[in-house]
Amino acid sequence: MLKGYITEIFDSFQGEGPYAGRRQIFIRFAGCPLHCFYCDTSYAKDPRPKFCDFFGGSSVIHSEKISNPMSTKAAVDCITELRTYTPDLHSICYTGGEPLSSAAFVKEIAAEAKSMQLKNFLETSGNSAKRFASVVDYFDFASIDIKMRNHLAVEERDYDNLYGNELECIRIAVDLGIETIVKVVVVKNTPVGEIEQICKDLAGLDIKFVLQPVTALSSMQNADADIVAPDVKELFELSATAGRYLKHVMVIPQVHKVLGIR
Ligand code: SF4
Repeated sequence: MLKGYITEIFDSFQGEGPYAGRRQIFIRFAGCPLHCFYCDTSYAKDPRPKFCDFFGGSSVIHSEKISNPMSTKAAVDCITELRTYTPDLHSICYTGGEPLSSAAFVKEIAAEAKSMQLKNFLETSGNSAKRFASVVDYFDFASIDIKMRNHLAVEERDYDNLYGNELECIRIAVDLGIETIVKVVVVKNTPVGEIEQICKDLAGLDIKFVLQPVTALSSMQNADADIVAPDVKELFELSATAGRYLKHVMVIPQVHKVLGIR
């Protein structure tokens, strides 16, 4: 069995996209090569954290620090324990950081979860289509981000490569019939033309397209950055633009931030 680095394992409500409010067990894999200016999980960017924090969303479960690297069995044991307290469970959410940075480890845990009749939900920036293809067979849901140029996720010279990988991940998921969610974080003065081009590139694909207004909180990675959410007028315009090309367009803010939970 493999070993890998996990930042935290816990249960909570999904806070983003069309499954907001569904109970999930979250496995937050350590490390991410991107640098989105609005990152709200910068604590998960360390690829080699000493411990994995294990805790329950409800108060009934104990919390524990588990030494990293941890084994697939240790991760599955955490799932099993949290499962006891979550009869309302929707799925296991593989998130980060960037889970594709731990693709082989993700795959092994996801295979175990599948054998326990659990559903698997992948959240990824889609930065590597090759790694995505290596894990996707074990997933029932794939939520793939598209990073815009103004997110500063990568250097400008690397942007086209990132965007190409994201589109490829989306096509792979759709072709396999996996429920595919595409999420774009939008800030104030998001270029409408860039959203239009993204939607043209996605036209004809069976996806749910989510415009997620950025959450402006001081706890984020770059507290000095001028993080300003778009106003409602902008959101209507962006949504209408997307609707010219895509069937399922939705504007959904981060619900877990409203609830004050992870
Ligand atoms: S991809 Fe996610 S974890 Fe990585 S920097 Fe961007 S927001 Fe943070």
